[in-house]
Parts: sequence; C-alpha cells; structure tokens
Amino acid sequence: MGKQTGFLEYERLEEPFRPEAERSRDFEYLHTSLTNEQRAEQAARCMNCGVPYCQSNYGCPLHNLIPEWNDLLYRGEIEQAILRLTKTASFPEFTGRVCPALCEKACMLAERGSVTTRDDELYLIEEGFRRGLVQPRIPSVRTGKRVAVVGSGPSGLAVADLLNRRGHSVTVYERNDRPGGLLQYGIPNMKLPKEIVARRIRLMEAEGVSFVTNTAATREIVDNYDAAVLCGGAGKPRGLNVPGDDTPGVHFAVEYLTSATKSVMSGEAPAIDAKGKHVIVVGGGDTGNDCVGTVLRQGCVDVTELELMPAAPTERTPDNPWPEWPRTLRTDYGQLEAAERQGSDPRLFLTTVKRCIPGPDGRLAQVEIASVARTPQGRFEPVEGTERVLPCELLLIAAGFLGCDAKNVEAFDLALTPRGSAATENGSHHIGGKLFTAGDFRTGQSLVVRAIADGKAAAKEVDEYLMGSSPL
Ligand SMILES: Cc1cc2nc3c(=O)[nH]c(=O)nc-3n(C[C@H](O)[C@H](O)[C@H](O)COP(=O)(O)OP(=O)(O)OC[C@H]3O[C@@H](n4cnc5c(N)ncnc54)[C@H](O)[C@@H]3O)c2cc1C
Ligand code: SF4
Repeated sequence: MGKQTGFLEYERLEEPFRPEAERSRDFEYLHTSLTNEQRAEQAARCMNCGVPYCQSNYGCPLHNLIPEWNDLLYRGEIEQAILRLTKTASFPEFTGRVCPALCEKACMLAERGSVTTRDDELYLIEEGFRRGLVQPRIPSVRTGKRVAVVGSGPSGLAVADLLNRRGHSVTVYERNDRPGGLLQYGIPNMKLPKEIVARRIRLMEAEGVSFVTNTAATREIVDNYDAAVLCGGAGKPRGLNVPGDDTPGVHFAVEYLTSATKSVMSGEAPAIDAKGKHVIVVGGGDTGNDCVGTVLRQGCVDVTELELMPAAPTERTPDNPWPEWPRTLRTDYGQLEAAERQGSDPRLFLTTVKRCIPGPDGRLAQVEIASVARTPQGRFEPVEGTERVLPCELLLIAAGFLGCDAKNVEAFDLALTPRGSAATENGSHHIGGKLFTAGDFRTGQSLVVRAIADGKAAAKEVDEYLMGSSPL
C-alpha cells in the first residue's frame, strides 16, 4: 500500500469529459487527462485491501493485480507497474477506455468514491507506449503447429495473442476490411479511437500473427490448420417484428455504427446518414447510447430513444447489494449530450414501436409509438389508446442480439444453445474435433473484458489439445 491515508486525503477524480456542447460536434476522444501528479494521487487512494474485491469474480474477469500496480503507479515505478498490469491484461488500451469497470463497482471504497482503476490502467498502458516500453514479444521457439482464429474481435485477438506467444503460428481471419471486431466497427471513435485498434494490430503482426481481412472463413479454410477457434461474435441482431420494419430508413445499430466509423475514417459521407433527420433509437442500453451520440455528431434534427423497460432505480435496492454490479439508472455520454442539446433526457421508458410508416417516396417518414405495460405472463405489451405518431426518417434498432449469425451456423454446421450461441462440450470451449470457440460466439453478447478473458481460457484449452499440456 503506497500511502496509508491516501483514500482519506484525496477525493476520487475521474478523467474529465470534454464539455458536452463541444464534444458532441466531433468524433474525437471524449475525455481529457489528469496531470501525472493527480494520477499518482488517485493511485494512492487504493487501500491494498486484505480481500481485494476489485480483482475477484465480482470485479475483474481478468483478475488484474489491481492493488499491486496501483501501488507501483503511486510510487512512480511505472515500468514495473506496466509489467504487473500486462501480466494479466491482454489489451489495457481497450479495457482502459471502454470497460464499464466492474472492478470500480466492487471496490471497497465504492461508498466514498471508488479507486479510479480504469483510468489508472489507461494511464499506465499509454505511458508504456509513449516511453517505448510496449515492444513486440516475439517467441523464441516455434512449435510448428498452425491455428486459425475466425473473427478478430477482442476474444479472437486474445486467443491469437496467447497462442502466438506460446509459439504456435496463428492466422486470424476477418470478414470485414479491418481487424478489431466491434472494437473497430461497433464501438464509436469517440469512445475508442481507431488508431488505438490499428496500433495493437501492428504490434501483433510484428510479433508474428497473420491477419487475413475481407475473408469469411469456412470449414474448408480452417480444415487446413491443426486447430481453429471460432470467435465470430453474437452477430444476429434482435429485430422489431412490427409492420413496416423493412421500410428503407430502418437499420440495425451495428450496420449504422459501421457506416459512421467508415465515414469518419475515409472522410466521405456516411452510407447511412442522420444529418437533417428526426431519429428514433430503439433500445436504451450501451449500443443505443452509442447510436444517440453518433446521430448527434452527424447533425440529426433530434433524437428520441425508446426503452421497453421501466427506468431503473437511482439507488441500489436490497436485492442488489455491493459488491454486485449495481442495477441502477445510468445516464451515459450520448444521453447527456442529447439532454444538453434538446433540453431533456432523450429516453422514453416503457415505450415501444407499433409500426413504421413510409412516406410517398416509400422511405420511412413516421413511426407510431405506444406506452407498454407488463402482462401477467411478464411480457411488455402496448397499451391501447396511448399511441402517437412521431416524425422519423431514420430508425435504429439497438434491441440486443440473439447469438451466432446464420452464415456461421451453416458454414460450420453448428449445434446451438437455447440462447443461440455455439454449443460446446460440457461448458468448455471445445466444439468437437479441432474446433474451439470463444467470446460472444460462445457466451452471447457480453463485454470486451469478458470476451478477452474467454479468449484467454480458450487459448489454454487449444494449447492443451495441441501439446498435451499447457503452461498458459
Ligand atoms: C455498439 C456496441 C457497443 C459496445 N460497447 C461496449 C463497451 O463500451 N464496453 C464493453 O465492454 N463492451 C461493449 N460492447 C460489447 C463488446 O463489444 C462485445 O462483447 C465484444 O466485442 C465481443 O467480442 P468478440 O470477439 O466475441 O466478438 P466481436 O467483437 O463481435 O467480433 C467478431 C468478429 O468476427 C468476425 N466474423 C464473424 N464470422 C466470421 C467469419 N466466418 N470469418 C471471418 N470473420 C468473421 C466479425 O466480422 C467480427 O469482426 C458493445 C457492443 C456493441 C454492439
Ligand atoms: S478494492 Fe479498491 S481499495 Fe481495495 S485493493 Fe481493490 S482497488 Fe484498492
């Protein structure tokens, strides 16, 4: 423990957000940084708890050695801190930016302001890159075994990273034009600048991992390898199933966010543009919030976000005690920006879409919405008489995901779990034969940090399969 009274002396101080009015007009990173001195003070707040819940199952799926590197950061031993961090964390530059920080919710200091673990992690890894401490780690011995990884999201990258370090020759197949999965085409630039993704890919290439883009892997392709790990994500979005949901102007969130990122990167107009449009986003979760933030930046007229569920309570309830993740109302950056621009929170809770109405040109012009109530069977159904029609030229569906996409199910002849994910042997990562799986493809839609942890666990199983045992 660096400073015994640190948590009493210093208040929690997060990386500041740029002002809403400024940041909602560009796609630059959302935050600015603290000074080095402030960062050390934040690390000094860590109490090195006897039972560090931050790194337990409640806190960090990677079991990061949080109190150890917070202490080293406070003492200014940056190189050692980075070594401790990267012992367990595969890609801290991603988790340091996009992780919801389960560790902070489970922190012993949660009541008086958790340790800023996520920001500390980001500071350390970026300092590592700045100082040239993050260098390619090229394995000294190659095993002669060849592994195909299908999909280059965080789970696929974690599998590839670990198996390559073990000495296997790894090829990652990605059907998009750039690697990264939802880190590249999903999570928007302002949360995760795309140069950060490209930097990690360059590092992995220098370490010996091959990336093949614009290629949808099939059974025929992976049959040429000693083992293959399917990390194709939970690519099947949940639809609306209402009249008119195939009207031009209705899009799934990831399709829209992909077009937005491509436009930011190329400087060309987006294939799906919110500019000058009334927008409705269906879904009040993280993906919906990213859509809200993106349509504001593209210059929409206004944005409304519909959420089927009631607003969560503002405080923890007795059935949701610390150190569990708090099921409380969160207002994220996009919703704050919309509130600043429009004067109120864009979310309408307990509300759904009843139908999409085309205009004379056949494109979406209006959307009928209605309040919902819970039926005795627990479903949410529209309440008669509450319907109203809103102008809307762009409707984005961010209503969750239903597991593996149909193309992969067919290509790899997969059996599915009831949730639509790839079925494995006894909950392991082994599908059968030389096929393994990891990430959202196996677990259903989750989090970046969980996908990384799952990829690491899969890499160990693949290594055991190839070598008989594994030190991973
Ligand atoms: C809009 C959005 C925002 C999110 N924001 C956050 C966030 O802020 N924080 C957080 O923790 N989580 C967030 N998530 C969730 C997180 O991104 C996912 O849980 C995580 O990316 C899953 O990683 P993965 O590697 O399993 O799959 P993915 O990231 O989905 O990657 C799968 C990749 O496989 C490729 N692929 C599929 N089939 C094939 C094939 N046959 N051949 C070649 N390539 C193939 C796909 O093109 C894709 O690139 C967000 C999700 C979305 C949709
Ligand atoms: S629970 Fe919080 S205070 Fe305790 S060791 Fe972890 S980060 Fe530090």
